[in-house]
Amino acid sequence: MTTQTTRPVESNAAEARTATFTAKATTPGRRTELSPTVTHVQSTVWQCNCITIRRPDHAVVIDSCWNSHDIEAVRDSIGGTTTTLLITHADIDHVCSVGFFPDAHVVMSPEGAARLADGSASRDLAVEGAKWGLDLRPNLRVDQVVGPDERFTVGDLHVSTVGARGHAFDGLGLFIEEEGLFAVGDYLMKSQHPMVWWSLTEARRSTERLLAAVGRFDPRWVVPGHGPILTPQEAIAVGEADLTYLEEVERVADEAHHAGVSPREWHLAVESVPVPRPCAPDIEMLSPRLLNVAATFRDRGVDGELTWTLNMA
Ligand SMILES: [Zn+2]
Repeated sequence: MTTQTTRPVESNAAEARTATFTAKATTPGRRTELSPTVTHVQSTVWQCNCITIRRPDHAVVIDSCWNSHDIEAVRDSIGGTTTTLLITHADIDHVCSVGFFPDAHVVMSPEGAARLADGSASRDLAVEGAKWGLDLRPNLRVDQVVGPDERFTVGDLHVSTVGARGHAFDGLGLFIEEEGLFAVGDYLMKSQHPMVWWSLTEARRSTERLLAAVGRFDPRWVVPGHGPILTPQEAIAVGEADLTYLEEVERVADEAHHAGVSPREWHLAVESVPVPRPCAPDIEMLSPRLLNVAATFRDRGVDGELTWTLNMA
């Protein structure tokens, strides 16, 4: 994880072989028992975080791993227990657990449910799963729709929600009160800087809301979609640095928009904003800053032409 970004670059053959090997989606993830009831599995690719909570009569699974074997191991670890699947957002790497739990009760936001209803989430999952050689069963479904600022029960647990759209079209922060665990989706990530597929303005607002919620909930663990699990103090430090970046990106995008500069100059202005931290290599290869530029065009209704575009569902 962090070793990938902090270790000095070495060029010997063994390092190169390790780098190639760890980039494979079939490499098993890492399993950590956070407490007698909470288990964390982090997949190798993209450091996706999947959480399992085992209570006496039921289990909760939050999000997924980008690796069918990791998901099967999570499923096998909870056996036939009645299970609820909580999904922070319908991006491929978070929703891909659904097909592995045919009997589970699946909960997500209204916008997440819309991405399932229009077929786009299943299509993205089928296309990207095939590229990676993974059988991720893109037969998605949702059983319960929950919006922001709601409080609902899952067995004997209480869950409070926080609106977290922006990174994607949908998004929901989920605080599991009795366990003190706050799953925030793809925000507050120590392994990368903000990466926005939909609206940067909404991502900024969601980061503000999630930071406020960390202060209000005082969780034991903050679990972002990717990278290390954080203490509340770490999450606040990451989130505040992210906000500084997002606010500055918004400022230069507004300036470029009002000045009527070319998309190329606008792009350069946003790219010039210093990022709060580097991204893990397999995130960096998705060109997160380019995605953020595209989001600033989209937010302002500008059909900006980028210097190149990414083929990524
Ligand atoms: Zn993600």
